[in-house]
Amino acid sequence: MNCLEFSKKALADPNVILPEMTLHLNACKKCSQFVKEMEAFDAKLIKVVDVVVPSEYPEKLWTKANACIQKQQWVARKVRYGLAALLILVFGVVFIMGKILFYL
Ligand SMILES: [Zn+2]
Repeated sequence: MNCLEFSKKALADPNVILPEMTLHLNACKKCSQFVKEMEAFDAKLIKVVDVVVPSEYPEKLWTKANACIQKQQWVARKVRYGLAALLILVFGVVFIMGKILFYL
């Protein structure tokens, strides 16, 4: 077994070292280092996954999400009112201009 074959098998299933891999591992310093690095990475990964989420966290998240949604709805409502007011203003100006032109 060479280093490439060893690394392929080691990466395919990091938790299993086959007997032929052990022979290469005992003879190859590079692959031995590679396995140590993989084990260290696995240990870090397990620590990251094992993070405990505080119980109040989901509620805080929902509260912030709801506040954000309400703000977006408030802005959308103001834009709709603004557009409606502009439309009424335009119709009013056109109506008044029509009356003025009619009497001239
Ligand atoms: Zn090797």
